[in-house]
Amino acid sequence: VSHAEFAELRQSMERIYTDLLPNEEGAVADYIPTLRDADPDKFGIAICTADGQVFSIGDADAGFSVQSTSKPFSYAMALEQHGAEEVHRWVGQEQSGGTFNDPRLSLDHDGKPKNPMINAGAIATLALVEPGLAETARFTEVKKTWERMMGAEPGSDTPTFLAERDTGHGNRGLANLMASRDMLRVDPRDRDAPDKAAEFYFQVCSLQVDAKRLAAAGATLVNGGVGPYSGERVFSQATSGQVLAVMAHSGMYDGSGQFFGQVGLPAKSGVSGNVMMVVPSKRLAVVVFSPRLDEAGNSVRGVEVCRRLVNEFGLHPYKGL
Ligand code: GLU
Repeated sequence: VSHAEFAELRQSMERIYTDLLPNEEGAVADYIPTLRDADPDKFGIAICTADGQVFSIGDADAGFSVQSTSKPFSYAMALEQHGAEEVHRWVGQEQSGGTFNDPRLSLDHDGKPKNPMINAGAIATLALVEPGLAETARFTEVKKTWERMMGAEPGSDTPTFLAERDTGHGNRGLANLMASRDMLRVDPRDRDAPDKAAEFYFQVCSLQVDAKRLAAAGATLVNGGVGPYSGERVFSQATSGQVLAVMAHSGMYDGSGQFFGQVGLPAKSGVSGNVMMVVPSKRLAVVVFSPRLDEAGNSVRGVEVCRRLVNEFGLHPYKGL
């Protein structure tokens, strides 16, 4: 993105931000206290380009748990460590047709999770991340990867982790179901291994980021896998491209198809109210943080920012040809 183009983008984002500030549609997630008590009025937008240009407005420094937006990066870590063929023995790459936590529609006939963007798939991909290391070392490895993408270490939102663990029966159920079909790569001699796999997923969902830092993680994916600030290679180009493809068809929960029709770009949302959208043609990532969610679980203002940006700059790859 040239400096002139970036200046235009800034202006447009300022206008979009002001326009959407009064929008109070939707409701915050209420399944755990930390999300239920989040300030619903928070609103921040950040843009980061592959070459490290940054724009932010509003609450772009406000911390939130990354939640489901960790999933593309956990998938990327598994792909880096094992290659696509091995990873796809354990997790599919098809739309699930169900909610992110659906106990029936998450797994295919073999017990394999349909894709890495739903909970079952994220638990399965995380089970492939440094499986030989002890728990602490595995979590440290994940945090280090995030640090290389963002140029700063992510925090850990401990109250959110504890609440996820307290209420995580469905996720533990999915992990145990996969293990019962030999579809979770864990130690078969450890009867608690599936529960531990779910716990690793809760830890990663509870990593704390902000819009600015998460935008740098997103920009890594359009920078061939190189962190925009560190200049360090985090993922291969092939891994980054594969992750974006799966995000494009399954990143926005049950609203993925409609979102792709309107926007046509890869994006991932998290239940804390974050949306990370990637614009491959401009090699930049946009992150919106605004906790009120629509019916599908996507941030209302987040989706609206993406739609407006794509319309104003003609960024939809299949429209206007
Ligand atoms: N951590 C929550 C769960 O696994 C929600 C993840 C999300 O959708 O952002 O149920």
